[in-house]
Amino acid sequence: MERAVPAFAAREGEFVGLADFCLFGADNGWPIGQEVRFRKATLAKGFAGQRRDVAGDRLRRTAAPLVHFTVASVIPGQNSSPSLIANYSSVMSPRDATRASEILDWYDRHRRSMPWRALPGERTAPYAVWLSEIMLQQTTVATVGPYFTEFLSRWPTVGDLAAADLDDVLHCWQGLGYYARARNLHKCAGVVSSQYNGHFPEEEAALLSLPGIGPYTAAAIRAIAFDKRAVVVDGNVERVMARLFRETDPLPDVKSSLRERADSLTPDERPGDYAQAVMDLGATVCIPRRPKCMICPWVDHCLGRDIAESLPARRPKPEKPTRRGVVYWIERPDGAVLIGRRPESGLLGGMMEFPSTAWREDMEIEDISDVSRHAPLAATQWSADSGLVRHGFTHFHLELRVLKGRVGAGTPAPDDMLWCSIDSFADQAFPTVMKKVAEKVLRGG
Ligand code: SF4
Repeated sequence: MERAVPAFAAREGEFVGLADFCLFGADNGWPIGQEVRFRKATLAKGFAGQRRDVAGDRLRRTAAPLVHFTVASVIPGQNSSPSLIANYSSVMSPRDATRASEILDWYDRHRRSMPWRALPGERTAPYAVWLSEIMLQQTTVATVGPYFTEFLSRWPTVGDLAAADLDDVLHCWQGLGYYARARNLHKCAGVVSSQYNGHFPEEEAALLSLPGIGPYTAAAIRAIAFDKRAVVVDGNVERVMARLFRETDPLPDVKSSLRERADSLTPDERPGDYAQAVMDLGATVCIPRRPKCMICPWVDHCLGRDIAESLPARRPKPEKPTRRGVVYWIERPDGAVLIGRRPESGLLGGMMEFPSTAWREDMEIEDISDVSRHAPLAATQWSADSGLVRHGFTHFHLELRVLKGRVGAGTPAPDDMLWCSIDSFADQAFPTVMKKVAEKVLRGG
């Protein structure tokens, strides 16, 4: 019989819908489209109005302080005078300086509006830049928007986030995936609060020493939050550079050469805007399929335009293996279900789960009497759900067989586990794969 699925399931469905919506619209290429999609996403998650009224205000209040700087007035392309172009960098070639001025001019007209992005002439607080960049890793702008708003609303400063309970942070992170990032986020907030008095450092070396901050994020924070020159290279930038310079050798072999290309174009003036301009170009114009070359500010210089869709070239990836395991759904007569916490380190570290066997390629999951012996409690009436729960991780596919069993009233939970009523599932930091398990059992599928 189908049972009520707890609230988190509805939220999951909502996110899937939003992601679909975002993907569907991702090809229009116009900044306004991004903004509209973000607003729809925000409304759908129930934060309508908060983006401007709460988070926006807090972002500005906590911008500590939002620094105003003068936007260089340079006319792009053929109108760019040599003296003005020379302002971009004393070491750039005139051609690179022209490219920088062209994309900055394009950015001034077409910049995307995003909740973590300051208004023209303002600078976003380092906390907001860091938060958004961590959230945006491998996730779309439309998906991140409501999460960013919620985080900023709950924890307006890095000190507030450091003082938060890790479980609350993980719970709020649900749906963004890659939970190691959420744990590092919390750790990093603690280090910035305790060792840097709540202020993010602006040097890349110091930023790189913080938990969860890699070369891309360090450069992005330095450029966007402090407007200091830094070479910001992510997948979007690599794609643009590979096309602009017609780099046909495959990634990852050409990573360092693409970075050098990006370095040569990065100006001393407005490096933060420049970084965001190339990101926007990659996200809205120089997109993976059917790039919109006709509206690209670099169309006249682009060497790879005719073969753009094939760039960047990539070495073929090895096929992902499939791991298997058995997950135990053990229920008491009062309806409580046994759950535990995964080890802090490793995959889905610190998240809650229904107990399971190891996940291995050679795992035997068909023989119920055999696999039930590994369950954390000796239950009766073991039965296997028909069908498997499937989930994709970065490096492998997972297939889980759900084994359901019952124990007597008052059975205590084993050490480090607990009984949880189905109504309270939404309060637990379950990763998506465990939500799939719950949905499968509760929907009787
Ligand atoms: Fe990308 Fe086309 Fe612009 Fe070249 S001209 S950078 S391929 S959008």
